[in-house]
Amino acid sequence: MYTNILGFPRIGRHRELKKACENYWAGKIPESQLYEEGNQIRTSNWLLQKEWGIDLIPSNDFSFYDQVLDLTLSLGAIPQRYAFLLKNKTELYFAMARGYQKEGQDIIAMEMTKWFDTNYHYIVPEFVKDQSFSLSYNKALEEYEEAKALGVETKPVLIGPISYLLLGKEKEAEFDRLDLIDRLLPVYIRLLKELEDAGATWIQLDEPFLALDIDEKAKILYQKVYQSLKDACPKLKIILTTYFEGLRNNTELAVNLPTEALHIDLVRAPGQLDEVIRLFPASKVLSLGIVEGRNIWKNDFGHSLEVIRKATVALGEDRILIGASSSFLHVPYDLKTETDESRLTPEIKQWLAFAEQKVEELAVLKELAGGNPPDKTFRALEENRQAICRKETSALIHNGEVKARAKAVLEKDRHRKSPFAVRKRIQHSLLNQPLFPTTTIGSFPQTKEVRSWRAKYKKGELIREEYDRLLKGEIEKAIKWQEKIGLDVLVHGEFERNDMVEYFGEQLDGFTFTQNGWVQSYGSRCVKPPVIFGDVSRPAAMTVDWISYAQSLSSKPVKGMLTGPVTILQWSFVRNDQPRSETCKQIALAIRDEVLGLEKAGIKVIQIDEPAIREGLPLRKEDWKTYLDWAVAGFCISSGGVEDSTQIHTHMCYSEFNDIIEHIARMDADVITIECSRSQMELLNAFVEFKYPNEIGPGVYDIHSPRIPSVMEMVNLLKKAAKVIPPAQLWVNPDCGLKTRGWAETKESLIRMVEAARILRQEY
Ligand code: GLN
Ligand code: ZN
Repeated sequence: MYTNILGFPRIGRHRELKKACENYWAGKIPESQLYEEGNQIRTSNWLLQKEWGIDLIPSNDFSFYDQVLDLTLSLGAIPQRYAFLLKNKTELYFAMARGYQKEGQDIIAMEMTKWFDTNYHYIVPEFVKDQSFSLSYNKALEEYEEAKALGVETKPVLIGPISYLLLGKEKEAEFDRLDLIDRLLPVYIRLLKELEDAGATWIQLDEPFLALDIDEKAKILYQKVYQSLKDACPKLKIILTTYFEGLRNNTELAVNLPTEALHIDLVRAPGQLDEVIRLFPASKVLSLGIVEGRNIWKNDFGHSLEVIRKATVALGEDRILIGASSSFLHVPYDLKTETDESRLTPEIKQWLAFAEQKVEELAVLKELAGGNPPDKTFRALEENRQAICRKETSALIHNGEVKARAKAVLEKDRHRKSPFAVRKRIQHSLLNQPLFPTTTIGSFPQTKEVRSWRAKYKKGELIREEYDRLLKGEIEKAIKWQEKIGLDVLVHGEFERNDMVEYFGEQLDGFTFTQNGWVQSYGSRCVKPPVIFGDVSRPAAMTVDWISYAQSLSSKPVKGMLTGPVTILQWSFVRNDQPRSETCKQIALAIRDEVLGLEKAGIKVIQIDEPAIREGLPLRKEDWKTYLDWAVAGFCISSGGVEDSTQIHTHMCYSEFNDIIEHIARMDADVITIECSRSQMELLNAFVEFKYPNEIGPGVYDIHSPRIPSVMEMVNLLKKAAKVIPPAQLWVNPDCGLKTRGWAETKESLIRMVEAARILRQEY
C-alpha cells in the first residue's frame, strides 16, 4: 500500500514566493534570485514529504504563477501577441500572466478564471483554429531531475491532454478546441517519453473533467487518447487523477481507460467508492482520496480506516494507494506556525490539519492500515479518536439555541410581507426617488491613511475613541460630498472594513481567524479565509452604529451595507460536520438580526451583497437546483424580516446571469445592482427573454481601472439598458465598490454619472 500526494502548496511557508515574485517584478531582485527562491521551496517541500516516508511525492506541482500557464508554455501554445518575447522565457512567462507594459508596448495579459469551484484562479489557454504545439521546454522533466539529484524519486504531475484543452478557450469562431487533439497528442507523447527515458515510473495525469458533465465527443476522445499514451509509453504507470466531484455517469469510462491506476475523490464524493469497486478491472490500482485537500479539518482516522479496509478487502492491499483528495494547494502550509492562542485556541487547533499535518496523517494511516504499527502510531490513533469525539460534543461548536432557531425557520420567514408591486408603491412614496435614481455600491477609496489608522488601532497604537473619531471624520466628508453632487441614495463608505467577509466574521460567534493560514488565490495573491468552526450567531450589532451615524448627517437615505450569507460561507473554510446549507442558514439568521437592527434604527435602504452566489454553483448541473434553492433561501431569510417600506438592495459582481436569472429573481431584492460595463451591457441579454420583475442597476462604468468615463458613454449604456428593461425599473450606479480607486478619479466619475442620470431623466 503506497501513499499518494497530489500536490503541495508552493507559495512558501512564509509566503517567500509572493515576496520573491513581487520583488522581481519591481526590478528589486535579479532573475537568478527568483529562481533560487523557487528552488528552495521545491527542495523543502520534497524533503518534508520524504521525511514522512510518502511513497508518491509530486513534482512539477510547483509554479511561479500557475500550473496551467506552465503547461501552456511547455507545449508552446503561446499566443501570437507575445511572440516578440520568445527569446526571454521569464519575461514571456510573466507577460502572459500579467500583461506587458514597457518601452511603449502595451500587451494585455491572458484571461484568468476560477479553477473549478475553488478560489484559485488559472490562466486560460487560448487556442486558434490552426493552433500549433511544440515541446518548447520540459518543465516536468527539469523538476523530476532536480528532485532526483536531491535523492528524491518523484511522481511528475501534469494536467491530462483532454482537460488541458477543455480548460482553454477558442479565440476564433467556428472550431472546437477538442479537434486540436491530433496536434497536441504527439507533443504530450514526447513530453512523457522524455520522462520515461529519464527513469520516471509513476506519472499523475489530472483529468478533473472526468468528474464533470462531458459530452459524447469528449468521452470518445478519452478512450482514443489514453490508448495512444499507453501504446507510446508502455513503461509509464499513469495515475489517471480525478477530484472535486464523483465520476457518476463517467465511472465506466474512467475505470476502463488503459491506465495503471485511477484516483478518486472520496471526500467530495464518498458514495462513488462502491460503484468504482464494482466496475473496477482486475489488476488496476485504485488511489483513495481520503485526506481532504480543500479544507483544514483533521482527518477522522476511524472513518478513513474503514474506507481503506473496504477497498483492500475488495481489491487486495497491493492494489491500493491512500492519498489526498486533491492537491494541497488549497490549504495553508503548517498549523505549527499558528502560535497566537487568543486567535486559534488549543481547543480549536486540535481539530485542524494544514498541508504538513495532512502529510503526517497519510503516513500514520499507512502504518495503521498496514498492521503492526509502532506504539506511537497507536497513540496517534487514540488521540485522533478523542479529538474527533470532543468535536462532536464541544460546547464551543454546538449552540442549542442556534440549532433550535434554524430548525424553526418557517416558509413565511423566507418571504417579504407583500409582493414587490405593493412594496414598490410604498417605498417610492416614502423615499421619493426620481426616475433613474443614482447610488454607489458601498465602499469608497481605502486610502493609505485609512489603512494606516486601522493598522495602528489593531496594534494598540491608537485607542478606540481616536480611531472612531478619525473614521467618523471620513464618513462625514463622504456623506457631505455625496449630497453635494446630488446622489440619491448615499453610502457611508465602508472605511471601517478590512474585507467584506472578515469584517463580519470577526464579530460573529462560530468564526475564528488564523495568523498564517494563507492560500494562493492567483499568482502572488494570497487570501486568508476565516474559519467557521461552530454554530454561527450574532452576539451584538455589527454595523448599526456606523450606519446610524452616517444617516444622522443627511436627510437623504443612507444604505445599510451588509455581506450576505452565501458570500460569507463561500469565502471561508467551512465546517465539515454539517451540510453547507445548514451553516448558510445560521449565517442568514445572524444577518437577518442585523438587517432588523438597522431597520429599527431608522435605516430605510439596506444592501446585502452576494457577489459569490454564482461561484457557489456545483460542478454538476444536476446539483444546481438544490444549491440554488438553499442559497436563495439563505438570502431571503436574511432579508425577509423587514417591513414593506424598507428597500432591500443586493449587489453581484460579474456573473453570467443567463442560466440562473430566474433564481436571481427569486431572491426578490427590491433592487439589484450588477457589473455590466466591461461587457458593454451584453449581460443584459438575459433580460430580453426573461422579464425581470424588480428594479435593477446595471453598472455604467468599470471600477477596475482608473479611467474616467465620459458622460455620453454612460448615457449610451443606459439607453442600451432601457431597450430591454423598462426605464422605471432602472438605477444608475458603478459596477462595483470603489475601495481600490483613488479619490480624484472617483469624484470626477461620479459627478459625470449623476450628470448622465439627469440627461436621461429629461429624455424619458
Ligand atoms: N459593498 C462592497 C463594496 O462596495 C461590495 C464588494 C463586492 O461586490 N465585491 O466594496
Ligand atoms: Zn461587486
